[in-house]
Amino acid sequence: MNQVIRHELHARVGAVAEVIDLAPRMRRVVIELAAGSPPVPWVRLAVGDHVKLAFPDASGRLNLPAQPGVRPAPGEPRPVLRDYTVRAVPDAAHAVFDFVLHGDGPASTWASNATVGSPLGVLGPRGSRVMPGDRPRYLCLIDSTALPAAARWMEEAPADAVVEVAVEGPAETIAALPTRANGSLTRVEGTDGSGLVAYLTGHRPHPGDLVWAAGETSSMIAVRRAAAALGVSREDLDVHGYWKQGVANRDHHAPLED
Ligand SMILES: Cc1cc2nc3c(=O)[nH]c(=O)nc-3n(C[C@H](O)[C@H](O)[C@H](O)COP(=O)(O)OP(=O)(O)OC[C@H]3O[C@@H](n4cnc5c(N)ncnc54)[C@H](O)[C@@H]3O)c2cc1C
Repeated sequence: MNQVIRHELHARVGAVAEVIDLAPRMRRVVIELAAGSPPVPWVRLAVGDHVKLAFPDASGRLNLPAQPGVRPAPGEPRPVLRDYTVRAVPDAAHAVFDFVLHGDGPASTWASNATVGSPLGVLGPRGSRVMPGDRPRYLCLIDSTALPAAARWMEEAPADAVVEVAVEGPAETIAALPTRANGSLTRVEGTDGSGLVAYLTGHRPHPGDLVWAAGETSSMIAVRRAAAALGVSREDLDVHGYWKQGVANRDHHAPLED
């Protein structure tokens, strides 16, 4: 059972402090929070920690909920929100996010145009789910959107554990990961999860190894089915749909098959 640490919910305003191109279509944005904002929480091994980032609407106005977690009343402007992994929190005033520039949608468009000073909202996280630190091997099967989380696995998994990352995605979105003695990053071919399934089948997990997977929802369904067919137990499997082809702002709390 993973430990869950609850956090007080905050809606913060921030602005871009730095933009770094990690790959032709993977962009790091460092956000400086407005003075007096509560820091973004940072918990080791909570590799899936994410916030809702709020982007300016079509008129350029940044709408934040009056109270975090409360829906705006009818007629009030709706915040434009998307989920992003907390890649790093260098200090209490900053947080780091890595964006895939996929070319469509308010988040990707915002990140493509971000320059120092561009405003942004940072909501949450509600809680941190601390992953188990006692596994001999972590097999991370991902697309580019989960590279920030995979980078955290590389940095935060115990030193004696093996961390294998297989990533399926366009070459231009694939940024280098931090290295570690027992770590590897393999780019697999495919667009529908088939490359990840082939990797899983060829690098069969042993009982006790953790298979952690995140990426496009249909691909993740394929990964989950393949893992089940290989006999991976529910305790050894953690699969997340981070986005869905053709669907804007998919709710990742919805069951994968919805
Ligand atoms: C817990 C969690 C953590 C996440 N962490 C990250 C992260 O750190 N970095 C990151 O880049 N993404 C991350 N994502 C994925 C990101 O939230 C989605 O890709 C989101 O849909 C992007 O919003 P958008 O406004 O750009 O596009 P949307 O308005 O949501 O979608 C517009 C269109 O673009 C398509 N689309 C959305 N994302 C992609 C994509 N990656 N590639 C190709 N087409 C796409 C949609 O299918 C839709 O047709 C995370 C998602 C979750 C649930």
